[in-house]
Amino acid sequence: MGHAYSETPDEDAGWDREEVYKDTQQQRALEAEIRKNKRIAANESATDLEKAEAKAKIWNAQKKLRELTSSKPWLRRDSSREKALELAVQPKGVKLKSSLKAWEGAEFGGTFGGRTVKARRDYAKCGGATIDERTGARFALFNDRNRAGIVKGSNLKGIAEKKQTALLSGLELAMKEMRLPPTALRYISTEDLGGDIARLERRGNSFLLKVDAKQARRLDPDQIEQVAYHEMGHMAAQRLLSEREWESELSSLTAYRNGARYLPQTKASRVVINELIKAKIPARYSSEDGKIRFSDKESEAVSTLRDFSEYAFDGAERGAQDDELIAEGLRYYGVHGPDNNAIADAIYDAIVGGEHDSQRH
Ligand SMILES: [Zn+2]
Repeated sequence: MGHAYSETPDEDAGWDREEVYKDTQQQRALEAEIRKNKRIAANESATDLEKAEAKAKIWNAQKKLRELTSSKPWLRRDSSREKALELAVQPKGVKLKSSLKAWEGAEFGGTFGGRTVKARRDYAKCGGATIDERTGARFALFNDRNRAGIVKGSNLKGIAEKKQTALLSGLELAMKEMRLPPTALRYISTEDLGGDIARLERRGNSFLLKVDAKQARRLDPDQIEQVAYHEMGHMAAQRLLSEREWESELSSLTAYRNGARYLPQTKASRVVINELIKAKIPARYSSEDGKIRFSDKESEAVSTLRDFSEYAFDGAERGAQDDELIAEGLRYYGVHGPDNNAIADAIYDAIVGGEHDSQRH
């Protein structure tokens, strides 16, 4: 609903028609390659070797497609075009060992393309302004309205200018798309986060975003933009909670991390499961490990989302998997738009477009 995905090449972003055409043709070719190899992989008269080869080709073509669609803002992945329609079960691609390395770099992959070009340019333009002035103009990230005991002002010290602008454009896009009031984010700063890239902290009803400058150096501007968007996903989920509810969830999590056997489901997790069930995607919350579990792990929606973000399923800290699934689902929705992945759609509906808007007014 009201998603700002642009279907047509944006003149302002300087897209070249010929390049758009060429890339679209490449996307179609890769989709055809996937369909062809799915048919081979499913063919009963094919040898095991032929099937294995076909599965590796499916994997490679999907990887190329993922890279292509995430690097070209005018392309959008369309999983329905990758289906061999006559097959009841779509054969999966199989990852070869040699492709393992690509995963490490795939962290926070994706691009918002033309949608953040303007914001990045605008931020870069106020060359002489301080970061306080720059962010103040857009977000009201201020020092004077700080009642949370923070005495210093927002800063992004130690992060290169280009990456600062990407961070801000990512925040801006996320706030717009997730309908977050800019004033809810009070403060951004660089801190040593001991290995984490970014961390969103809540103080009462306000939020602070901390970014690790050392980790930021490792990422390119597109990835930083994605990180900013991800963190705003956490903010959208947390804003479903009153301060009191949030504190109660926090103490459950602390108890669980200190060894309690069960972790009660969070409100965000609950609304997401409800929405998944409505969308006929069987999933349940498992209180023993604090995770959202999908009944059909091989489904198109699960595997496409996992392709986009392994982290959404594994790798989060103990008790935080559902939080991360939610933030990554929102980021998937941000990158690919609606009607592309049923789980991402359900997460967006639950967190942003749901029937709990009264909380936010
Ligand atoms: Zn996160």
